[in-house]
Amino acid sequence: MSEPSDAPQANDTVAPETLSVSPLSYKDLWFDDGSIILQSPTASFRVHRSILSFHSQVFRDMFVVSAPVEDAMVDGVPVVHVQDDAESLFQLLKALYFPRHIRKGTAMEMSLVVLLIEMATKYMVDFLRDELVSHLRLLFPSTLEDYLKTWEAPLKDICCKTDGLYAVEVAVKFGIPEILPMALYESARLESTLEELLYGTRDVDDTLVQLSSANLKTLLLGQHRLHGLKRRLSFKFIREYLAGEAGMHCQQKFGDLFVHLLVDDTDEDSNGVCFEDDVDLIVPKRRNARHNLVSALGICDTCSDEFWQAEKASWETVWEEIPKCFGLEWPTGPGQAVPVSN
Ligand SMILES: [Zn+2]
Repeated sequence: MSEPSDAPQANDTVAPETLSVSPLSYKDLWFDDGSIILQSPTASFRVHRSILSFHSQVFRDMFVVSAPVEDAMVDGVPVVHVQDDAESLFQLLKALYFPRHIRKGTAMEMSLVVLLIEMATKYMVDFLRDELVSHLRLLFPSTLEDYLKTWEAPLKDICCKTDGLYAVEVAVKFGIPEILPMALYESARLESTLEELLYGTRDVDDTLVQLSSANLKTLLLGQHRLHGLKRRLSFKFIREYLAGEAGMHCQQKFGDLFVHLLVDDTDEDSNGVCFEDDVDLIVPKRRNARHNLVSALGICDTCSDEFWQAEKASWETVWEEIPKCFGLEWPTGPGQAVPVSN
């Protein structure tokens, strides 16, 4: 079966590239040879019993129970009523008919990911749920190695400020605990104001995203602990580094470097001197700026090599501490991230 948008007819006057980006509408899920009509409160879809049954145990059972009766037929096709809203049903059916729209690691709005996980769970569509959970694992990984990859293309362009908040809610609600530490960390790290966290943040579609009060409490407590962690580990890193052999050789220059690393001199309101107050703990994006700074300050190659190794080692220490800030531990196996027991 091919998608309508991929097969423009000879008499079409619209350019194929325009067709290929035009979104499907509800009417695209009305197939003339469809064998069942799904009726939501505000829209209906004529689809194929075989395709739905193949993917979903719930549809399979539903069609057996709802054996066609005379008064529930339209044009000889049985009608099955469902309570889902039209948009949720449409998105689920679209994912079943055109699954290439749903691929892990591609740009998908997090509101859609969450809606589809909800529908895939409800209708027991395992392939869809697995794909979406894999997508979330890519964005909110549980190993440092995988986290560093999220800073590289194409993943770095996918996440936005509200995605972490969506991911926290979906992790708790639908049992995906392995993404929870990073979803909380990213939510704490990205620059939402306290007001936005308390009263909700608007996503790209202007939908208000708000954490449950339990999750909000976990996030705010964790954010507070991350601040402490940053202070503790940053100063420890500097102290240990300056005490080392490489530190001694270029000590004065390292002093200048660490001032740059600790002070946000891009903040105009502070006349150029203000201690960074974010909770960024692992920031490979600043590597280029740091490399430039290291060479501008004239730090020698031996010292700079050792410095990068020390930074990498400090990331490993930090990584182990991040979930503990939220009362969690890294998963010890697939699908596990358990609260720390005290
Ligand atoms: Zn040196």
